[in-house]
Amino acid sequence: MSSPSEIAQRWQQLNSTVAAAARASDRDPQDIRILAVSKTFPLTAVEAAWAAGARHFGENYVQEGVAKIAACTLADVVWHYIGPLQSNKTRQVASHFDWVHTIDRLKIARRLHEQRPAELPPLAVCLQVNISADPNKAGLAPDAVAALAEEVATLDRLQLRGLMTIPAADQSAAALQQDFARMAELFRQLQTEHPQVDTLSMGMSDDLTLAIAAGSTCIRVGRGIFGDRPRQG
Ligand SMILES: *Cc1c(COP(=O)(O)O)cnc(C)c1O
Repeated sequence: MSSPSEIAQRWQQLNSTVAAAARASDRDPQDIRILAVSKTFPLTAVEAAWAAGARHFGENYVQEGVAKIAACTLADVVWHYIGPLQSNKTRQVASHFDWVHTIDRLKIARRLHEQRPAELPPLAVCLQVNISADPNKAGLAPDAVAALAEEVATLDRLQLRGLMTIPAADQSAAALQQDFARMAELFRQLQTEHPQVDTLSMGMSDDLTLAIAAGSTCIRVGRGIFGDRPRQG
């Protein structure tokens, strides 16, 4: 388990890496959000990252995420659900999270819309795209994005914010770059239809520089902030 000062040090280091990657592509570092993926890490780790400056946190498991959110007393924290989502868990997610990155079916979107509590602002959502056509990964085919986006945009308890992807892991840098470029193109197309779209959630510890060069606005990093996982997630 990492100490608060180790977490703070990694957070600073990661910010420098992101800023350098942004400047290398003539981008403003401010336009790239770092989502601290706190799945499997305790609330004390979230508190340490928050003290270092992190405000956006990502969780993959509904039960664990909801428990952490309920116990968290920090100000201005934004919670992102980035895990697979089944119908029987949508109510918990709609009631506790601010964002969901993993929408790939209308049925799930409709349930989140129906279950989002009236006193909360609309749930911010991204559509997950299976850009590498990886049979082991969730997500829409690229040519299915426009139709689902149109449906989601009619659900007023959701706010369509963009796209998310997890490319296949075992690719060459060239293939990965191609996937990221295709995501950026899909993202631009989506923005022409839906001007409120502002989020391209793409890039993790090992590929964040390539993702930023391609136009990512949100990288998702866990171990690069919190250290190795206490248990396998
Ligand atoms: C776990 C996870 C991450 C972060 O992975 P690390 O290996 O902890 O950096 C990013 N995105 C998604 C969707 C994840 O599930």
